[in-house]
Amino acid sequence: MVFHRFHIDTQEAPERYPHPSRFRVRVKKLRLLFMVAEELLHLRGPGRVQVALSRPCVYGVFGRPVGGLAPIHEKCVGCLRCTTQYPHVVQIVPNPQRQNLGDAYLNPDWVDTIMLEARTGRVPVRGAGYRGPFGGQGWDGMWTDMSEIVRPTRDGIHGREYISTLVDIGEKPAFLNLDAGGQITGPKPKTFSMEVPFFYDLPPANAPRRVLQTLVEAAARVDSLAFVPLSQVLRYGLAGPQVVPVVSPGQETSLQRLTFTPRLVELSSWDAGLFAHVQKLFPQAVVPVRLPAAQDLWPLFTQGVRVFHLEANYHGQAGESFLGERLRAVHDALVRKGVREEVTLLGSGGIVQAEHVPKAIICGLDAVGLDTALWVALQARFYGQCRERSQAQVRFPRFPVPWGVQRLTNLAAAWRDQLLEVLGAMGLREVRRLRGEVGRCMFQAEAEREAFAGIPVVEPPAPARDGEARKQLPQPVQWAPVVWVRRAGHPSLTGGTLEERIVAKHRHALHRGFALWPQLPFRPPALGDARWTADLILSGWYQAQHGCPPEEHLEYRVGRSGGGFDLLDFAFLPPDQWLPEDVPIDTSIPLNRRPYDPQIVIPIPWYGAGMSFGSVSEQVMLARAMVAKAWNTFTSTGEGGYPDALIPYARHVNTQVATGMFGVREETIARAPIVEFKYAQGAKPGLGGHLLGDKATVAVAKMRESVPWVSLFSPFPFHSVYSVEDHKKHVDWIKAINPEALISVKVSTPTDVDMVAVGSYYAGAHIVHLDGSYGGTGAAPEIAKKNIALPIELAIPKVHRFLLAEGIRDQLVIMASGGIRTAYDIAKAIALGADGCILGTAELIALGCTRCSNCERGRGCPFGLTTTDPELSLLVDPEWGAQRLSNLYESYRKQLVQILRRLGLKSVRELRGRTDLLVYKGGHRREA
Ligand code: SF4
Repeated sequence: MVFHRFHIDTQEAPERYPHPSRFRVRVKKLRLLFMVAEELLHLRGPGRVQVALSRPCVYGVFGRPVGGLAPIHEKCVGCLRCTTQYPHVVQIVPNPQRQNLGDAYLNPDWVDTIMLEARTGRVPVRGAGYRGPFGGQGWDGMWTDMSEIVRPTRDGIHGREYISTLVDIGEKPAFLNLDAGGQITGPKPKTFSMEVPFFYDLPPANAPRRVLQTLVEAAARVDSLAFVPLSQVLRYGLAGPQVVPVVSPGQETSLQRLTFTPRLVELSSWDAGLFAHVQKLFPQAVVPVRLPAAQDLWPLFTQGVRVFHLEANYHGQAGESFLGERLRAVHDALVRKGVREEVTLLGSGGIVQAEHVPKAIICGLDAVGLDTALWVALQARFYGQCRERSQAQVRFPRFPVPWGVQRLTNLAAAWRDQLLEVLGAMGLREVRRLRGEVGRCMFQAEAEREAFAGIPVVEPPAPARDGEARKQLPQPVQWAPVVWVRRAGHPSLTGGTLEERIVAKHRHALHRGFALWPQLPFRPPALGDARWTADLILSGWYQAQHGCPPEEHLEYRVGRSGGGFDLLDFAFLPPDQWLPEDVPIDTSIPLNRRPYDPQIVIPIPWYGAGMSFGSVSEQVMLARAMVAKAWNTFTSTGEGGYPDALIPYARHVNTQVATGMFGVREETIARAPIVEFKYAQGAKPGLGGHLLGDKATVAVAKMRESVPWVSLFSPFPFHSVYSVEDHKKHVDWIKAINPEALISVKVSTPTDVDMVAVGSYYAGAHIVHLDGSYGGTGAAPEIAKKNIALPIELAIPKVHRFLLAEGIRDQLVIMASGGIRTAYDIAKAIALGADGCILGTAELIALGCTRCSNCERGRGCPFGLTTTDPELSLLVDPEWGAQRLSNLYESYRKQLVQILRRLGLKSVRELRGRTDLLVYKGGHRREA
């Protein structure tokens, strides 16, 4: 017998009807014509016309012969390079048509994700970390766990080790009675299996035949089930093992007209007579009963029901509770009564994203019902709120069934792959082990209660984020005043090759835009997100320009994620108790708290995060190394090797040893003051790294000792480390090569991150580097960014307190990263228990990043940051970059000094763990 791994074949299935583009490109045509004319007049030398006509968009928005006069909106990815360079000519605005997609629960971003998945069958991957709210109600308030070091399952999604998503549906007796011959004499299990833990739930009542056929055929393709009302099964002649007739009281006689023997016949509501009738008619069939999720199951269990289908409304609401809470209660009750293994729980309502599937299973389901997400994939339109099942208004377009089947198959493949990501990160080999594993999940309310214990809540909860804000009408676009090329000057455009002149033109325009935008009284309409607001990005540009925080017109301290750092604040002393300006404030921290090995002290409590050659350009690496040297702190090579250009800065360049071992050599370890072991990273906890083939240029491949233009995977985890003892061997290996090196251990933030930190200490680490889940500069699966592992705000106090309790806090340095955006975030992280922080995205912002998340797309970052494209890389001049970063550091230092002064502290070291100096501004947390 040949064993076949289950696999879902995908195929591109583009939308049949136009899907609104994400952005609209607005161009002031007259200004554009004047600008080009002026450039033509002003520029001299060969290639003048090409330089004047060269366009800032690398995605082809201005690719028509008439360029900006007829932009191609569909190609715009919102990188904002054009409007950054020419704010008086181009504006990018979010397309208001997209605000009408979905409804208050199924928001436009989720619609977008479903469309991508249905079109391609791929896992959505984007750069630049997580962009959304900190947490929230329902599924948003949960994070799944990951297994930091000891992990049996590796690279499941890439197929190297099989992870099963098979689930069993049906009823099982509590135990088996066997006779002397080993034959079962008592009740037997009545189950069947399907390869995916989700099924296609009832379509809306007005769904036409093509929709029903699509659901049934797609369910057959992915070995799932399609639930269809009995009347429609009969009317359209649907048949097959994947068809689940849903029968209502009064339809007993119709059941006999079925032309096939179903595996499952569902009762639309409880009816004892109908239940007995169906069991008698189809003795082999499993008979679930559909119930409101808020209903008590026990009375029906005592009447013989073993398969329950718990139904919430389309927004996941089950009476007063959210479906997840209700499922936990039901699952717990069945466990306490000792009958959970006899029962199958199906559930549906509000499952609209891939991450909802594992979360619902963790809460207690065996299999998860899909509904509105399927309809979105088929390009159905919602009219009004699609909330209550009986009132939802949904219209399906015309489409051929094969197209619909492919779309739903693609969606299933993408969701299954994302389930594999979650299972792989947790170290689980099969989804059946996930059911009810609430211990492998972190709930926001509980995690905050623990992490922020003792921090007073000073304001009532902030109003819930939801569709209201995004439904606001778009503001009229405001235009920057005209800044003519000639007036601003173009000193570098008279010499060099044509390419150099083109780059010089764009670089100059970019620098001008970075300086101008933060001073305008309005923001670029498409800039920013909940975590990195437009204000935070613009204030980053401002600080990089001026070396101080901006005026009050930009909020430079907090974002609007609705949680974590954004709701924490300092309880400053009254002004008359602030330390006077002439009292010196010490912002230095030690990086080695052990009594042996080099005693390294950095004058500011932060250094630069690892960003590999390949994920960023050499110019960016150089700029970061220069500023590290200037400030006597550090930067890191990341895991892509150690370019020779960094050797002059070697005393300030840490090197990374990650699971792929790319570019790891004895000489690079020997020259590093700090060697970082990267066990995991916050942007993709429990998953390996992935450098796309397009970015593995000849130079990058040489550095990594790999083949050019071939994608590179860093596996997860280290395949040589399964214990603290193995971990110690790693440390000993480094110390044998470089006895002077400090050892930093970079880990993600699972639920047992405190134990991981202790293990790292006993393995010999000097620094434990906690990388929270919301940060990251490289590309990562979207499902990993939000849903796996803890945000850094919740991980720091957990580790700090545990190390204190273990009596080793003063021998280990905690450095925090992953979502550190501002000087205030640094100070809050230290108050929560870190010694210092590690900066990644904040540095890229200073160099011009707009957080557009296109780092892995096409030629890479259009601003020349996360790219290996030779031309784009030249947009960042290392000296210019180093000066920007230095200014940012200076601004952060000034703010940190002011924070300490207002708290009455003379040293940043006194701030560590001082949660008593923090207050919490509402949110979801409740005092214990
Ligand atoms: S690094 Fe570049 S591509 Fe990536 S988010 Fe920033 S601006 Fe966009």
